[in-house]
Amino acid sequence: MLNEDCGVFGIYNNDNLDIVEETYLALLSLQHRGQAGAGLAVNKDGEIKCLKDVGLVSEALNQKNLEKLPEGNIAIGHVRNVRYDLTDPNIDRAAAQPLVIRYINGSLSIAHNGSLTNVVELKKELELGGAIFQAGCDAEIISYIVASQRLISATIEEAVEKTMNKLKGAFSVVMMSPSKLIGMRDTNGFRPLCIGKLKNSYILTSESCAIESLGGKFVRDVKPGEIVVVDDEGFHSYMNNCKEKTSMCVFEYVYFARPDSVLDGISVYQTRRKAGAILAKECPAEADIVCGVPDSGIPAAMGYSVESGIPYEIAFIKNKYTGRLFIQQEGKIRDRTKKIKLNVLSANVKGKRVVVVDDSIIRGTTSANIIKMLKDAGAREVHLRVASPPLSNVCYYGTDIKDKDKLIAAAKSLKEIEKQIGADSIGYLSFDGLKKTVEDSQVGVCTGCFTGEYPAEFSKKIAVDRYSEKLSY
Ligand code: SF4
Repeated sequence: MLNEDCGVFGIYNNDNLDIVEETYLALLSLQHRGQAGAGLAVNKDGEIKCLKDVGLVSEALNQKNLEKLPEGNIAIGHVRNVRYDLTDPNIDRAAAQPLVIRYINGSLSIAHNGSLTNVVELKKELELGGAIFQAGCDAEIISYIVASQRLISATIEEAVEKTMNKLKGAFSVVMMSPSKLIGMRDTNGFRPLCIGKLKNSYILTSESCAIESLGGKFVRDVKPGEIVVVDDEGFHSYMNNCKEKTSMCVFEYVYFARPDSVLDGISVYQTRRKAGAILAKECPAEADIVCGVPDSGIPAAMGYSVESGIPYEIAFIKNKYTGRLFIQQEGKIRDRTKKIKLNVLSANVKGKRVVVVDDSIIRGTTSANIIKMLKDAGAREVHLRVASPPLSNVCYYGTDIKDKDKLIAAAKSLKEIEKQIGADSIGYLSFDGLKKTVEDSQVGVCTGCFTGEYPAEFSKKIAVDRYSEKLSY
């Protein structure tokens, strides 16, 4: 399973909205972007109160505690997928977001999605200047820089712009100053960030699905390099840092984002469907049915079915009620809970030649398991079709594709992968095919983990052992 780092949300209340409730509901809509922790901070006249903990949104933010938060005028929220320490939940709690810092100009709260590629250099520079860090996450570095820049800047906008010039890598951020909601997206635009409206109130969030699920209206994406500010005078945009070359993470379309989101002008669902249709042309198969691996493989399987004329059938039933059981358990129990989480509809596959479509292959263990499940349920043949190209390089911009040795396509040929996972045949979407799926995007795309060509500077040390490197001074 591949993990995205985070989802962010912010709202500036221009109506009589219960913004704690709105933020909580929005975080539920962003739950797919992070299940390891969640948090919510609310600002009432410059005083910020925050609730956060490890776990799913419903676990981290319980109703009783939410009721104790004040009715505020600005709120931000965060969901996170990274566990900083698997053995000590207290370390995880300290790194949970939003972070709230208090400095001489008041309070700041911040929620971040992405990964800074110059975090080691920045941290060292700040520590040499006397800074002390506690949380161990990029958001802490960003908030420290914003606060220190604010002391030498005329406005918070100027401080944020100066901060942006110091940061490298991937960052989509929402933050609150005592009186403003602020969003910024890195100049490449690696992680999504968009603007919405709920009545007269402004929203900044990772995906449009969070806006629509509140009953709001999507306005537009924040441009790569743009800073947006909402205050009592309305909405303001600053584009001094916008550049021509942009590189939104293509994996957002392949896997991370929800299919009902629209990112940088294109529908995630339509992108996946198109990938499936191109895959059917590039890698045809003689088969009786096409099925998709839930959830992100399903739109691609539908596209494959329409293009190939092979009927689409549901082959897997996903149990939506197991919560985090699947990612918490180890060993034998974990293997058993996999079957509880995903089971095969035997009647639809028994005796059939099956095309199974998945969004991507990371280590190959999930694919091997899926194929075994289909064969155990009586499938005569299983042909795996993958709706993205072979993934053979690491990511430096905020996903957990960090260890090249664990990527099956980095070390093995197509035939070797086919044999290892037990498929009767395997076919990947071509790189050209992938590019076609996003040709209508308003921004360029990063395809670094497929090609090994990266659009922004990075430090290799960070990707190998990011957090111990940060602690090694
Ligand atoms: S390297 Fe891959 S996962 Fe990382 S940002 Fe680029 S496309 Fe996304």
